[in-house]
Amino acid sequence: MLNFSDDVVNWQLKHGRHDLPWQVNRTPYGVWVSEIMLQQTQVGTAIKYFSQFMTAFPDVMSLARSTEDEVLSLWSGLGYYSRARNLLKSARLLVEAHGGVVPSDYDILISLPGIGRSTAGAILALAYEKKYPILDGNVKRVLARVFRVDGPTNVSSTMRKLWALAEELMPNKHIDAYTQGLMDLGATVCVRRNPSCVSCPLQERCRAKIEDVVGTYPVANLKKEIAKKSIYMVVFLQGEMVLMIKNLGGGLWPGLLGFVDSEVFSADILDRYADEFKLQVESTVHLDNFRHRLTHIDYVVHPIRVNVTRRCSKEERSGLKWINLNDQSQLPISVPVRKIFKLLR
Ligand code: SF4
Repeated sequence: MLNFSDDVVNWQLKHGRHDLPWQVNRTPYGVWVSEIMLQQTQVGTAIKYFSQFMTAFPDVMSLARSTEDEVLSLWSGLGYYSRARNLLKSARLLVEAHGGVVPSDYDILISLPGIGRSTAGAILALAYEKKYPILDGNVKRVLARVFRVDGPTNVSSTMRKLWALAEELMPNKHIDAYTQGLMDLGATVCVRRNPSCVSCPLQERCRAKIEDVVGTYPVANLKKEIAKKSIYMVVFLQGEMVLMIKNLGGGLWPGLLGFVDSEVFSADILDRYADEFKLQVESTVHLDNFRHRLTHIDYVVHPIRVNVTRRCSKEERSGLKWINLNDQSQLPISVPVRKIFKLLR
C-alpha cells in the first residue's frame, strides 16, 4: 500500500511543476536565491526577479563582489529588503570561509543570515537531495488539513506538532521530488480558499476532507495588533529632477533611496528641510494618500509635492541625489516611493 510520501512523489513527477526557472539547470546557488525570494513572495512575481538577479549575479562570487546598492536595485519592488541584504552578507561569508560554495551542511547553512530551518531544509533537499524537512506556509496548510492539526500555526505548540509530522513523513528516496511535491500541492491544489480536493493525491487520507471540515483548517492564526500610522513623504521637485535621500540608518527601508519622511508635517518642518537642503520653496501640492501595509503597521502615506528651485547646484551632504523622474526604474526604492513616482508623472 502506498504511503503519504509515495502519493506526494508520484503526483509531483506526473503533475507537479518542473519548468520553474530555478528548476531548469538546477544549481545550489539558484536554489538558494529562489528559496530566499520565495520566503515572502508568490512564485509568479519571483520568476521575473529571479531571472534578472541570476543574469546580474550568476554565482556566489559575482554576488559577493557586488555593492549593496546594486543588489537592492534588483530587489526593488519585491519588498522585505532584509532578504537582499542577507543574501549579500551570506555570499561574502561564503567566499571568505567556504570557497564561494553554497554549503551542503545544515549547521553552516542555518548559521547564514536569513536562513531558517525550513529554508535550510529546502536547499538541502532540492539542491543536494539530503533528507531534511521543510515547513513553509503552504506545507503547514497541507499537513494541518491532512492530519487535522488543531491550534493556530503561529503558536509554538502547533509548530512542534507540525515539525514532528514533517520529519516523520519524509521518504528515504526521492526527497527532492517529495519536497517539491509538497510545495506544489500547497501552491496549486491545497490552496487557502477552495482547495481542489478532487484532484488531490491525498484526498483518501486527508482527515479534513473525509470529515468535511476542510474550511476550518489550518486554524486561524492568533491576531496580532496592527498599529495604524501616518507617514508624510515630502518630494522636492525642480522641473523633472527629484531630490532623493539614501537611508543610511535603521528604521524603515534602510539602504534604500527615498524622500524626506516624517510622522508629522507642518509649514515649519517644510521650512527646516528647505533650509537644510538649500532650496527655495515655490509651491506645495498634497497628492492622493494611499495605504501601505507592513507586517505590524498599517501606514497611510501622505505624499506632498514641493516645487523648488535650488539655491546651490551641488549636493552638500552625502546620501543626497537629484534624479530625473524618468530614471527611477533601476533605483533601489521601496514600494511606496515607486507609487509616488507614478503619481508624479
Ligand atoms: S484533500 Fe483537499 S484539503 Fe486535503 S490535502 Fe488535498 S486539497 Fe488539501
